[in-house]
Amino acid sequence: MAVEFCTLASGSSGNSTYIATKYTRILVDAGVSGKKIQECLAELKLTGQDIDGLFITHEHIDHIKGAGILSRRFNIPIYATSETWLAMEDSLGKISPANKRFVYPGENCIINDICVKPFCIPHDAADPVGYNIFAGEKKITLATDIGHITDEIRESIAGSEILLLEANHDEDMVQKGSYPWHLKKRILSDMGHLSNKTAGELLSSVVDGKTKHIFLGHLSQENNDPHLAFDTVESILGKNKIQVGKHFKMDMAYRHNTGIKVEL
Ligand SMILES: [Zn+2]
Ligand SMILES: [Zn+2]
Repeated sequence: MAVEFCTLASGSSGNSTYIATKYTRILVDAGVSGKKIQECLAELKLTGQDIDGLFITHEHIDHIKGAGILSRRFNIPIYATSETWLAMEDSLGKISPANKRFVYPGENCIINDICVKPFCIPHDAADPVGYNIFAGEKKITLATDIGHITDEIRESIAGSEILLLEANHDEDMVQKGSYPWHLKKRILSDMGHLSNKTAGELLSSVVDGKTKHIFLGHLSQENNDPHLAFDTVESILGKNKIQVGKHFKMDMAYRHNTGIKVEL
């Protein structure tokens, strides 16, 4: 079964990813304006009407900014954990009861020919999740906003053909940067975000023969740089005898634009 993957926005300023099969099209997160997401979909020759479901990872604004608008404008069902619903409901505005859907970590949620399975991630939100998306034999994983690596994350990422992984910050840039201490502490904490280095180490231990394409995303605007993130991860992989370009492709998920579209 053919599957398409494309990031629409990625970073501390907003996140959204498009995944589709022949019969089903979903978004994970809608953290930029509804208008911006419509523009990105138009680049893929789609409109909001083509979207069958919107899956939310957690209630932070960089993941839900356009969710309410899109749901109302195009009658799109929104899927989230019950705690996330409680935490984001006021920000979303009125959502039709029929479009309020629930997901449960570890349990499959099936839409037509796509199976979506949330897994728990440690992050300072109500009940944050990453998502596995299964389409036939293909497995795609989205894992951002991760304070630290857990066994559950490792297991969830393993065997993915496509992986969107957070490479949020360079630890030195955070330490030396202009952020107030409480923000630095939050980013670097166990419930904050994943550094370039930790992303590289995690990848070194989980990539396998199935891995086809890795996207590094959710970069901090202040505390990272796309080249630095890519080079740091590539060099850690290299030290572990894993060659980017030979074993799999690796690209950055663009901050403000529709990213590279992958078709498997
Ligand atoms: Zn977050
Ligand atoms: Zn985020």
